[in-house]
Amino acid sequence: MEFIDLESQYLVLKDKIAGRVADVLSAGNFIMGPEVAEFERALAGYCGVKHVVSCANGTDALVLALKAYGIGPGDTVVTTPFTFFATVEAIMTVGATPVFADIDPGTYNIDPALADAAIAAGGGCVKATISVDLFGLPADHQRLAAVCAGHNVRLIEDAAQGFGGECRGRRAGALGDVATTSFFPAKPLGCYGDGGAMLTDDAELAAMLRSLRVHGKGEDKYDNVRVGFNSRLDTIQAAILLEKLAAFPAELKQRQLVAERYTRALPQMLTLPTVPQGYLSSWAQYCVLAPDAAKRATLMAALAAADIPSAIYYARPMHLQTALACYGIGAGSYPVAEEVATRIFALPMSPYLSERDQDRVIEVLTAACR
Ligand SMILES: *Cc1c(COP(=O)(O)O)cnc(C)c1O
Repeated sequence: MEFIDLESQYLVLKDKIAGRVADVLSAGNFIMGPEVAEFERALAGYCGVKHVVSCANGTDALVLALKAYGIGPGDTVVTTPFTFFATVEAIMTVGATPVFADIDPGTYNIDPALADAAIAAGGGCVKATISVDLFGLPADHQRLAAVCAGHNVRLIEDAAQGFGGECRGRRAGALGDVATTSFFPAKPLGCYGDGGAMLTDDAELAAMLRSLRVHGKGEDKYDNVRVGFNSRLDTIQAAILLEKLAAFPAELKQRQLVAERYTRALPQMLTLPTVPQGYLSSWAQYCVLAPDAAKRATLMAALAAADIPSAIYYARPMHLQTALACYGIGAGSYPVAEEVATRIFALPMSPYLSERDQDRVIEVLTAACR
């Protein structure tokens, strides 16, 4: 059993992807070929945003968004301590300082009231909040947008995991002033290498992102008006993504069925993920909480003994990472994130997970919980 079954997806899409890749190989437009713009338009249509600027990966997308807003040394950015390191790394890469607000214990996403308090405590130094749609579930963007607008700070949605999710009728990618996403293969919408994108309704910001992505270009790439990056999405990856995006709506439905099946059948001892009213999760991960760290170890060992993969996202909150030791944020600072980190683990999840395999996961966990 695979933790994320990319092979079954490939078998379904194989011929279409081969055709698309062959087109790129024979046309020879490997950098910024027509598939890149075609994919950007398709993605903008799917997410309901005006502008999509693709780039090399989801980490660059965050860095480019921060740079486009002029955020750098002396500025602080509020974010969640419970995320993949890239969210925080991007803030530090541009020279700004990350400040954390603890998570909501039910959704594991940043708590808007605590974000509000963190922004207020930061005085005028806070320039943006990065919300993360963790495990596929969008953060509470309605409240976050009000909080950020109230303080006049930017809201950047890190939708690397949330792609496909919804918050009150709007899709992930359309929930902040700008959103970023990743096409790393294991994400809900993944390519066959690295890729990323920035999504926004703001035409001026989109123009700045397009410049930053190609060496700070002005009229063309030999007219350099600022220091930028080399962060383009490969044409081959755009071609693959066009086929993957076409298959995505059906996969998203399948993800809901798999998640619902887990939620119906998993034992009571586990705390199962909840999706608040008005939200849709894209189930990038299906994560459960064990009663405590010792029980988590027992349950994961039982799964491993049955050849069932599982994983911990995330074992160490960001403020306790070695790379952040310079800020001296002690253990106990963000108690909800710290407690969840000791109990959480993720089960095999993919639109192609068979009922038979899923039943095995459920059986092994049910037996191990007795
Ligand atoms: C994967 C991920 C990223 C980074 O994406 P890459 O394409 O791997 O650079 C950023 N934020 C979150 C929350 C992620 O899960």
